[in-house]
Amino acid sequence: MPKKGMLIVLSGPSGAGKGTLCNLLLQRRPELALSVSVTTRPPRPGEVHGVNYFFTDRENFEQMIRKGEFLEWARVYNNYYGTPRKFVEEQLEAGKDVILEIDIQGAKQVKENCPDAVFIFILPPDIEELKNRIKKRGSETEESFNLRIKSAEEELKAITNYDYAVVNDDLKAAVEKLESIIIAERCRVLRN
Ligand code: 5GP
Repeated sequence: MPKKGMLIVLSGPSGAGKGTLCNLLLQRRPELALSVSVTTRPPRPGEVHGVNYFFTDRENFEQMIRKGEFLEWARVYNNYYGTPRKFVEEQLEAGKDVILEIDIQGAKQVKENCPDAVFIFILPPDIEELKNRIKKRGSETEESFNLRIKSAEEELKAITNYDYAVVNDDLKAAVEKLESIIIAERCRVLRN
């Protein structure tokens, strides 16, 4: 029987640099398939439908939940985000390793439904750096900024449920660590 692909979950607080790391990882490892999430959040300048996210409205999102179209979904900072189940399942069946870049609540659901997945926690170097990164992005209102910082402090506690932790203090070093984890996981004799 052909070997199924591996599901790799990258998670961590907003502003830890998951998105940037994920893009760099895909440049180095183009054989990986990135799952594009569905969200009700409005696009930020430069974001493209179908590339960064599939942007939709609340009504359609709720319908997708009812139809069981999400592998996981979560409400994050007053918006909904979800991973389309079909794409992930098809890629894994085809033997491709799939990356999910999702929040901590979503990672928890994946852990329950797909315990064989590899869970990697991306950490910001420290909370001050996290604040700077979210501020630099410049797209958050003060309310949203405060909400993101408060959640990040809480979210850091979830680290014990993960297989690996990567501190994103240096982009190049962090992406090399991610790559090493993936290479090592591919060499595993038995997955638990
Ligand atoms: P942003 O609005 O900054 O793009 O994303 C906010 C948070 O939602 C980030 O932590 C991001 O990882 C997370 N996120 C993006 N897509 C998904 C998804 O499909 N499911 C879940 N649970 N979280 C997601």
